[in-house]
Amino acid sequence: MSTIARREATASEKAARGKPGNGSVAQFPAAATIRTLGVIGAGQMGNGIAHVSALAGLNVRMLDVNEERVKAGLESIKRNMGRQAERGKISDDDMNAALKRIKTGIDYKIFSDCDVVIEAATENEQVKREIFKALIPSLKPDAIVCTNTSSISITRLAAATDRPGRFMGMHFMNPVPVMELVELIRGIATEEPTFQTIKELALRLGKKAAVAEDFPAFIVNRILLPMINEAIYTLYEGVGSVAAIDTAMRLGARHPMGPLELADFIGLDTCLAVMHVLHDGLADTKYRPCPLLVKYVEAGWLGRKSGRGFYDYSGETPVPTR
Ligand code: NAD
Repeated sequence: MSTIARREATASEKAARGKPGNGSVAQFPAAATIRTLGVIGAGQMGNGIAHVSALAGLNVRMLDVNEERVKAGLESIKRNMGRQAERGKISDDDMNAALKRIKTGIDYKIFSDCDVVIEAATENEQVKREIFKALIPSLKPDAIVCTNTSSISITRLAAATDRPGRFMGMHFMNPVPVMELVELIRGIATEEPTFQTIKELALRLGKKAAVAEDFPAFIVNRILLPMINEAIYTLYEGVGSVAAIDTAMRLGARHPMGPLELADFIGLDTCLAVMHVLHDGLADTKYRPCPLLVKYVEAGWLGRKSGRGFYDYSGETPVPTR
């Protein structure tokens, strides 16, 4: 993709190569030498990133807030890899070897041998800041830190670490094992070797990359989320039912999923968080989150992950709720 080679490293960036974010001498790991990758958050994105990384031959460390969450994430990986093996996409041997490469835990010390750590926890800036604070003391000086945030400023998150030069956005799509794209986002301080290493890592994981600048919600969600929010307004104003809106967009615009189905799939809490970032960051009323979206999140109706959103997922097939 041409945007990848958007700019060559400047002389000062080249000079900065090998200079650590934290003042001590450290080298930048080349992508080919990345052996161990950490993932923070074992939810749908975190376990997806762990899944593709382990299949690509990396040692993986995955952490969440408690053992229950970690176990649920690992179970999802087993289920999803099992499905890939049934379909002949991977062999049983590949699956078993990949599963052996994944270690889990709830203590940040599991990241002490990681070359790269990707944060994929809940879309909340305060939560992410606290995670970085807890993570830094366990990291190797040359480790690179990435965030899978859907919308939050990379520059601001980088500033919450001791290594803004070794920090950037690596935004995977859901479901990670299926979706080809990774958006790459530099913060203002991201050094060129960090960018090159992570770009190569994305390719090693079998992904294609698109480069976005550090503006609220980057490219994909800047375009996608206002469309989803508008679909929720369409429901809220009674223009159509859940089924009518999704059918209209599937058949009328050839979208593979209707916008409300997609919102449930993404997670309504994440959708709302992204709309808040767009609304606050761009100060334009066109990004105002639909009050119905706010209400659903307040009710704990977060979509597929909580069993109810615009559809009810308690039975065999999802049933529209409006
Ligand atoms: P999720 O709700 O499925 O998982 C989030 C996980 O983070 C949960 O398991 C939670 O326990 C864990 N967590 C919360 N606080 C934590 C902490 N302090 N330490 C460790 N773990 C913690 O959410 P998700 O959909 O996997 O989203 C995760 C991130 O990925 C968010 O930043 C989101 O914006 C981004 N993202 C989501 C999608 C999507 O379609 N859902 C796509 C791309 C990026």
